Amino acid sequence: MRLHQKGELSILRDLKEKFNPLLKRKDSGIIVGIGDDAAVFTCPNEKILVTTDMMNEGVHFDLSYTSASQLGFKLVSVNVSDIYAMGGKPKFIFLNIALRGDVSDEFFWDFFDGISIANNIYGLKLLGGDISSTINDMSVSATVVGVGQKIIKRSGARIGDKIYLTNSTGDSACGLEILKKLSSRGRNIIKSYGFGIINKEKRQQKWLTLNNTNSKNIKLDFNNAEPLIKRHLMPVVRYSEEINEIGTSMIDVSDGLFIDLLRVCDESGVGARLYLDRIPISKNLKYACKLLNLNPYKLATSGGEDYELLFTAPDGIYPFKDVVSTPANSSSKQLSITCIGEIIPNARVVIALDGTELPLRAEGYQHFGS
Ligand code: ADP
Ligand code: MG
Repeated sequence: MRLHQKGELSILRDLKEKFNPLLKRKDSGIIVGIGDDAAVFTCPNEKILVTTDMMNEGVHFDLSYTSASQLGFKLVSVNVSDIYAMGGKPKFIFLNIALRGDVSDEFFWDFFDGISIANNIYGLKLLGGDISSTINDMSVSATVVGVGQKIIKRSGARIGDKIYLTNSTGDSACGLEILKKLSSRGRNIIKSYGFGIINKEKRQQKWLTLNNTNSKNIKLDFNNAEPLIKRHLMPVVRYSEEINEIGTSMIDVSDGLFIDLLRVCDESGVGARLYLDRIPISKNLKYACKLLNLNPYKLATSGGEDYELLFTAPDGIYPFKDVVSTPANSSSKQLSITCIGEIIPNARVVIALDGTELPLRAEGYQHFGS
């Protein structure tokens, strides 16, 4: 069935039936959930954080290689990432979705399945939203409400602080490059990816073949390509109590490592020195870049959508150049933290692999950028 055959009232009734029963927990502070003119909740003695992020078809996602559930999952993750990046914990989510009338019922509920899976991982409750029809492209947006005690802003970096990055960046951008080169068969396999369950077709698949316009096709080992693609399509974002305790400033790397670090510098009124040889490159990124003829450092420093945390902390907390691993929340296996540079008075520079000092340029994604 198509959405325009169902009508808004019936859709909203189904949504209410699906999500309101999850709100029963007494300690959640929820007074009114889905179904009234506004949601109502209490958050006594806590600071309240609110963030919103939208995703537009053709700009943020491409339905030829993204399933509805992957889209829903990612929408929640990117919003939660902003709450984590402030040191908060997400609690409630609101969704605004604009869909074409010819979208199937199945697509709609798959999208909400992705939302539900993410909500479970992050401990979120859906409290409301809006639905609208649209003539052309789809647009989905979420607003997440979180709570926190110690808030970590972009503006807290101090001269002498070390700069740290969780895990590694560049995987998502590389995943996107792979997705764009996939044949329609490959795209359909990726779209059939669920969450956690091992896909049958994937198991039989050893290689992923990419179309290459100039030369012969490229074959990537599925085991290496899959984590990169997943990082792009279904990012799981991380929370760390430890970072919250020591961080002086923090940002989630959504547009690119360099551009996001420069935002911290601007807000804090400081400079930064990064060491390229300390920027972690995952083994999968290394592997794929070699075959795709891409520069892994370029992707790690200017590729977007990894949603890792970039933070500063006073010197001496972690030994310089050391990699510290701490167990993260249930949604991720391990969180590794690498020191990649330091905060200095004014200059924003990067020490290249050959030791030369180069200016740190705002490379990364900008809407309305040239
Ligand atoms: P109103 O016309 O008063 O704005 P709506 O008819 O749009 O109310 O929505 C009815 C109820 O359904 C509200 O509680 C609203 O929050 C909820 N709702 C609408 N769209 C969504 C959505 N996409 N996700 C969750 N709840 C929704
Ligand atoms: Mg409304």
